[in-house]
Amino acid sequence: MTDSAAPAAAPAAAPPAHTTVCISGGGPAGMMLGLLLARAGIRVTVLEKHKDFFRDFRGDTIHTSTLELMRELGLLEAFLRLPHQKAYRLGGRFGSDDVTIGEFKYLPTPCKFVAFMPQWDFLDFLQRQAACYPAFDLRMQTKATGLLRSQNAASPGRVSGVAYRTADGSKGELTADLVVACDGRDSTLRHQSGLPVVDLGAPLDVLWFRLPRMANDPHDLLGRIDRGQALVLIDRGDYWQCAYLIPKGGLAGLQARGLPSLRAAIAHIAPFAGARLEAALPDWDALKLLSVQVNRLHRWHAPGLLCIGDAAHAMSPVGGVGINLAIQDAVATANILYPALLQAQDQGVPIIDAMLEEVQARREKPTRLLQAFQLRVQDFLYSRVFAAGAAPVRAPVLLRLVSRIPLLRGLLPRLVALGPRREHIVTPEMRAAS
Ligand SMILES: Cc1cc2nc3c(=O)[nH]c(=O)nc-3n(C[C@H](O)[C@H](O)[C@H](O)COP(=O)(O)OP(=O)(O)OC[C@H]3O[C@@H](n4cnc5c(N)ncnc54)[C@H](O)[C@@H]3O)c2cc1C
Repeated sequence: MTDSAAPAAAPAAAPPAHTTVCISGGGPAGMMLGLLLARAGIRVTVLEKHKDFFRDFRGDTIHTSTLELMRELGLLEAFLRLPHQKAYRLGGRFGSDDVTIGEFKYLPTPCKFVAFMPQWDFLDFLQRQAACYPAFDLRMQTKATGLLRSQNAASPGRVSGVAYRTADGSKGELTADLVVACDGRDSTLRHQSGLPVVDLGAPLDVLWFRLPRMANDPHDLLGRIDRGQALVLIDRGDYWQCAYLIPKGGLAGLQARGLPSLRAAIAHIAPFAGARLEAALPDWDALKLLSVQVNRLHRWHAPGLLCIGDAAHAMSPVGGVGINLAIQDAVATANILYPALLQAQDQGVPIIDAMLEEVQARREKPTRLLQAFQLRVQDFLYSRVFAAGAAPVRAPVLLRLVSRIPLLRGLLPRLVALGPRREHIVTPEMRAAS
């Protein structure tokens, strides 16, 4: 954690008995939604099961769409004062072909880069901003364990809150006008809701690890593919954050062949790093497995409950779009629901479930589009890298074309860094910070 990061909120007294919006999960979706709603004067309680925001290899990509939102909130300057790295170019090496797949300078926004910032710094930042508003209540070490259902004859079975458990094992119940599940791809609440999940499949898993970075190393974001291997290197200042792609379920096979064999394979596609691998990968604990999932809910909501972010659609790490998509969901949710939530809070008017459908209708298309893109890239990687085995590879013709034509180098950054159907902050700042 950097010096600029405030400690995460300490567990305090038990959560209130009732709130306007209960959010389960203090990840990017939950914290952004909590900030926007509290800023608009809506009482919100965020339940987060961990004691802090520390997550390693959870994705540190802050895309331009999120930077733009920070600018709209008047927070960009403060945000960019936090330690981060900037990527201006997406490069790839296929065999011996070096290609530039994208350049962020063509983005039609003031921030012409993607930032990489530890996710815990980003979440701490959102927490500090949200804590300025009295309507914001964050409960760390509080796990949402189940959904409460209304016994009311007018709306039987409607979700009316959550059951939770705190670190000391105490159990409690929190009722709410609306529950938003932001508890990620293994969401407890989505599971309990019984909403059916459409699994889109993922032929790959990813091994994450760190590698010290030297002054003479290449710059920017790099992808390297050759002879049955694929590695993505993200420049994180004094180290590389590395993602080594393996076929789904392939870790046991790699382990059987031994770590020296893995180090040799990595050194083959990133020769500049070869001498550092022994120290960087002393044992298997230095590698963290991401079991890639791509799925989405058929329906993102049930009466009284809305799922957003990974809880509604688990994303592959391809393009590093998961965090930013979750944040876009949060912004759309706040934009669409805040008038109704204020009415519920101030006048007791129940939330109309059709409004939850509006959120899905707004966010489903961009999600489908990005997932379709991720599936294409995954299939491409699978066929070019694993199915092709040790055969030499060349960059696909399309990528060679993109690399040669400057304007085409702006297309991919537009899709991943800005994303389809970009959201803007519409929610007002109703009750200023005390
Ligand atoms: C290893 C890994 C690497 C990734 N790399 C990238 C990347 O490079 N770039 C990128 O953009 N995306 C990446 N992703 C995806 C990205 O992390 C997610 O898409 C994004 O974080 C989704 O945000 P979210 O807020 O919806 O869910 P999450 O970030 O998953 O947050 C969910 C939160 O809910 C909490 N929680 C879970 N269950 C409960 C409960 N029952 N009660 C209370 N709290 C609960 C969790 O502790 C967590 O804080 C990666 C994901 C993983 C797992």
